[in-house]
Amino acid sequence: MKPIGRFSPSPTGPLHFGSLVAAVASWLDARAAGGQWHLRIEDVDATRTVPGAEDEIFRALDSLGLHWDGPIVRQTARTARYEEALASLRDRGLVYRCRCSRKEIADSGTHGIDGIVYPGTCRELALGIDVAGAERLRVDEEPIEFEDRLQGPQSQQLARDVGDFVVKRRDGLFAYQLAVVVDDADLGVTDVVRGADLLDSTPRQIALQRALGFPTPRYLHIPVVTVGGEKLSKQTLAPAIDASLATKWIARALAFLGQEVPDDGENPARLLDAAVHRYDATRIPRTRAVDLPRD
Ligand code: GLU
Repeated sequence: MKPIGRFSPSPTGPLHFGSLVAAVASWLDARAAGGQWHLRIEDVDATRTVPGAEDEIFRALDSLGLHWDGPIVRQTARTARYEEALASLRDRGLVYRCRCSRKEIADSGTHGIDGIVYPGTCRELALGIDVAGAERLRVDEEPIEFEDRLQGPQSQQLARDVGDFVVKRRDGLFAYQLAVVVDDADLGVTDVVRGADLLDSTPRQIALQRALGFPTPRYLHIPVVTVGGEKLSKQTLAPAIDASLATKWIARALAFLGQEVPDDGENPARLLDAAVHRYDATRIPRTRAVDLPRD
């Protein structure tokens, strides 16, 4: 079976080196095995969308020679699918309504792997959906284990490390965790290749896949690009990829990923084509972050 991969940027700003590395890695991983590569705009948190950012991302990918298959998927167009998934969880008593405020949770919870562990205050209250609040998935003590293709064996106990987590927010928006699971399943994604900042989210996604009867894809979490210890992002004012220097940027991304950089002239598509034939996932640095010197 040919792999199906995807690149799923949030439209919070133009493509920068950190997101380019994720795009190149997922593209190489899918194409090297003759697979498909899809583009999904992760705009589920519409409050973070920056107008014009997605067009900048499309243009940059296009000029870099990173061409995607099929139509672009946009999360804001998929609310009905998320609603269906939530209804299926609700019908089976796997989610519950939670009316706790952020402050209440902060005051009563303990620190876990990704913020405060929800203490389960509303778990047994059987609050109706007419009560203002969020929807949380019930998690248990059974450890969730998986083998990351790069980072090796992983294990998390959701009850201890995360607690019952939000699948639909109090403001009515679906949580990233639910959206990404439904989206990957609908696209038939077999290989998720993305930044290691999401490694700790993966067990939550696996719990949702199991609850919804979806297959679990393989995962490969690549190191995050940091500068001075901080993740490169719009917040750290990462410069946008300048498409006129496409070949230079692709070469830098390949080098970051430990790949051989082919000496293939000035055309980014030719460089990628040469790189795809030499792609070796085992050469990607086996670490959660790689710090770059400041330019
Ligand atoms: N939208 C996320 C980001 O831009 C990526 C999510 C994923 O690949 O699962 O960091």
